Amino acid sequence: MRFRTLKQLVELCERENKSFGRLMLEEQANESGRSEQEEFRKMSEYYAIMKEAVRKGLTEDTTSRSGLTGRDAQRVMQYMEGNETSVGAVAAEAMANALAVSEVNASMGRIIATPTAGSCGIIPGVFVSSQKRFGWNDDTMTYALFAAGAIGYVIANNSFVSGAEGGCQAEVGSAIGMAAGAMAELRGGTPSQAAHAVGLALKNTLGLICDPVGGLVEIPCIVRNGFGAVNALAAADMALAGVRSVIPSDEVIQVMLEVGSSMPEKHRETAKGGLAQTPTGKKIMDQLYRKGSPKQTAADAAGNDAGAQTEKKD
Ligand code: SF4
Repeated sequence: MRFRTLKQLVELCERENKSFGRLMLEEQANESGRSEQEEFRKMSEYYAIMKEAVRKGLTEDTTSRSGLTGRDAQRVMQYMEGNETSVGAVAAEAMANALAVSEVNASMGRIIATPTAGSCGIIPGVFVSSQKRFGWNDDTMTYALFAAGAIGYVIANNSFVSGAEGGCQAEVGSAIGMAAGAMAELRGGTPSQAAHAVGLALKNTLGLICDPVGGLVEIPCIVRNGFGAVNALAAADMALAGVRSVIPSDEVIQVMLEVGSSMPEKHRETAKGGLAQTPTGKKIMDQLYRKGSPKQTAADAAGNDAGAQTEKKD
């Protein structure tokens, strides 16, 4: 790749009059030795899988094997049908889509890791709802996935994209940054605006710990994806309006590295701290790993009815 930072990416795009997405497609083809057509086809297949995950999460039973989570995306959609949502229909739909894909992941369905499975809902959440709203075709969305990939490439090479290394800021935070930059570009923003969207988004998740209850990518991961989709839209809008990340986005990425490196091990996917070690989190963990039927007991501990739904189906 000819770039390692967002600054270099923006400069290249400006010099060659290309979008993040167009430039990344060319760079990726050069790097892999495959043709641009082949790279594009592969990426468009990934987008098809994302769309299918949204559909599945909104229409099928997504109760997880633990029984802890499932069907929250459908709850949001049902709520939207009869109510004016506080965040507005656009953000609510992106949120529901993100929850849907994360729930498909938790129920062992097929997703695309963007950048990880834990944060797989945010990009499809934003993309699928925005495609419907603005009428973009699949090729446009595929280019936007390359744009998101370019941003993810920079973050991964300068900081982290995994919760075990850098906390949830690295997973959910990176996904929000990727979605925000790509969305800014989709809406006609300049490369500079897309880069500002990344920095604006990342600043909002700095310090976010990774604390999955029971070590499962369910609680709080799924709802963080829902929130992430809304934040990505907000960051894109701020950047398009001319709001700048005063601390340059590359420096924000460096801060993510600094914060993640000093994060205690208990807050990096070990389930030894944070929400995982609350009284309820510990109770769920205990029931999941030491006693009885995980589906029912863990759901009971969580105080939801997901386990009961699963039991009925079984
Ligand atoms: S809490 Fe941890 S496992 Fe869950 S999404 Fe965040 S980084 Fe991934």
